[in-house]
Amino acid sequence: VLENEYVSRETMHWHGGPLRLGERALMGSAMSGAPSMAFDVVVIGGGHAGCEAAAASARLGARTLLLTHKKSTIGEMSCNPAIGGMGKGHLVREIDALDGLMGKVADAAGIQFRMLNRRKGPAVRGPRAQADRKLYRAAMQKALAALANLTIAEAEADDLILKNGAVIGVRTGDGREFIAPSVVLTTGTFLGGLIHIGERKIPAGRAGESPSIGLTRTLRRLGLQMGRLKTGTPPRLNGRTIDWAGLEVQLGDDPPTPFSFLTAAISTPQIPCHVTTTTPKTHAIIRSNLHRAPIYSGQIESTGPRYCPSIEDKVVRFAARGGHQIFLEPEGLDDDTIYPNGISTSLPEDVQIELLRTIPGLEHVEMRRPGYAIEYDYVDPRELTPTLEMKKITGLFLAGQINGTTGYEEAAAQGLMAGINAARKVGGTEPFLLDRSRAYIGVLIDDLVTRGVSEPYRMFTSRAEYRLTLRADNADQRLTGLGVGVGVVGSERAGVFRDKCARLMKGRALAKSLSLTPTEAARHGIAVRQDGVRRCATDLMALRNVDLSRLAGIWPELGGIAADVVEQLEIDAHYAGYLDRQEADILAFRRDEGLLLPENFDYEAVGGLSAECRTKLSFIRPRTLGQAARIDGITPAALTLVLAHLKARTPRRYAS
Ligand code: FAD
Repeated sequence: VLENEYVSRETMHWHGGPLRLGERALMGSAMSGAPSMAFDVVVIGGGHAGCEAAAASARLGARTLLLTHKKSTIGEMSCNPAIGGMGKGHLVREIDALDGLMGKVADAAGIQFRMLNRRKGPAVRGPRAQADRKLYRAAMQKALAALANLTIAEAEADDLILKNGAVIGVRTGDGREFIAPSVVLTTGTFLGGLIHIGERKIPAGRAGESPSIGLTRTLRRLGLQMGRLKTGTPPRLNGRTIDWAGLEVQLGDDPPTPFSFLTAAISTPQIPCHVTTTTPKTHAIIRSNLHRAPIYSGQIESTGPRYCPSIEDKVVRFAARGGHQIFLEPEGLDDDTIYPNGISTSLPEDVQIELLRTIPGLEHVEMRRPGYAIEYDYVDPRELTPTLEMKKITGLFLAGQINGTTGYEEAAAQGLMAGINAARKVGGTEPFLLDRSRAYIGVLIDDLVTRGVSEPYRMFTSRAEYRLTLRADNADQRLTGLGVGVGVVGSERAGVFRDKCARLMKGRALAKSLSLTPTEAARHGIAVRQDGVRRCATDLMALRNVDLSRLAGIWPELGGIAADVVEQLEIDAHYAGYLDRQEADILAFRRDEGLLLPENFDYEAVGGLSAECRTKLSFIRPRTLGQAARIDGITPAALTLVLAHLKARTPRRYAS
């Protein structure tokens, strides 16, 4: 295989060890007589979804091919040079807990870390880091290169090879065939991509890169429900032409909090950002040019992300606002390009320059690249099962922006799960699913496959019902053990996790073993009810103004507990009562999730079900009664009919 002329030596990373999922040798033609190579899993796309999918599949021992346009753009951040944030930071921690790459890579590339919502409760704190684009790409490429079982090849995937309703491989634009029983599509904004800058329309996957036309044609031919969405990016500025004096400075956290549970400390140099704002003059220019803005002129008809609007959208929607904040974020340590976060736009280039120069600090700015909007095709994610496999095509998995989401983290989370399930399918093992009570990843995938999208979907903490439980700080405690169980977590992380669990157990036991009577507590200046009941250190930490460092003044042995365990003990204490209540809700939720609906359930046969409910249930084919209940328009009455029908058919299974 190493001699094969179709994958260059330079791009190959074959492992030497035994194959666990079934060795596939160099094969002849799949169908057409073209030269072909065989793998267990082929991942198309080297973006955030593709990298995690390929890495997860390879970690599971599947012979994996990552097929992407250009090796050099693997790990490219198409828009803002930042990872994490509210809800998104939770996803990064969960990806990391399952030994994914994004957290470690962001730690290597992060040049300004901030814990958002630090003053609010731990459940809604969101780790975020601005990243050096080049360092991010380099760290991702290095992480992939270090993986056994992974081959990387450069090519445009042009078509899928299908047989009897299943995918069996991929055909490239230059005539090669890569054969695999599982294929993961992660093509981002490239399917039928069309860039808009004012009146100009440029077919592209993102700036300077061609769109994917062949694949979008294939997907449409398969009769899938598809739509078009749009997203946008701001212009890039020459930092040397910005007048920084007088602009508000924003510093990162000191010390920075890493994303990864494996990173002890951040060693990449940290830099400040600056903040400025648009002015009434900026808004006047935008208003007078709205007829040239593709989103208002009718040139763009697809929907963009409501919560990440373009500057022209903000000016129209929030007409009373005199200014909108802009964060001037450096794109890298040795790159003076500035990303003005907050003014994504698709206005014509001349208008972009004019409006930029009305912004304090940018009076003489040089624009390096104009902002633009991009429209692209996506596949209705209700076409997918919760493993992210297509219902209509066996072995074909979809992850990332192609499923109607926006954001690197959302893409990476789906990629991880699709990669795991693609590999497990080849290995003949059960799917790996996370439900809404276990992870934000579960919330994300359940929302997509149950409700679909009407605009680009991004994660928020408000989407999670059980957010007191699904915290960024405890992602490892929620998921790493599960990851070890399915084999996607490597030995280094498993060891670190085991050690942390042991330290946590010891810390928890110690905090429970130390207690005071109310009189003793009062003597130490801690006010508790004088009811004669002893309070242990965990109970006392639940009180306002009592933390572990204060208690260490009473019990010096508490002073020896490591910082990560201290954080957990304090959070446990703070949330104790609420978490118990949430646990009861989670148990009720899991009861409904335990009621599995047969895959071939015939909704036409359920008497009394409305035509609308029948159509929706037949299309979405919920896995569980709980999922059926979350479909828009499915009423409790409809659920009762479904359950009654099931009970009548299989009384033993659905009794009680
Ligand atoms: P991508 O990162 O787009 O990666 C797709 C990969 O697939 C690329 O490597 C590409 O080369 C490869 N590929 C595509 N087709 C083929 C093919 N046929 N054969 C081989 N390889 C192929 N997100 C936000 O959170 N906030 C924003 O403000 C924001 N703005 C954006 C603005 C723009 C202009 C763009 C383009 C994206 C923006 N995003 C934003 C979205 C963010 O970039 C994506 O959500 C994220 O990159 C999606 O990851 P992905 O892995 O699905 O796809």
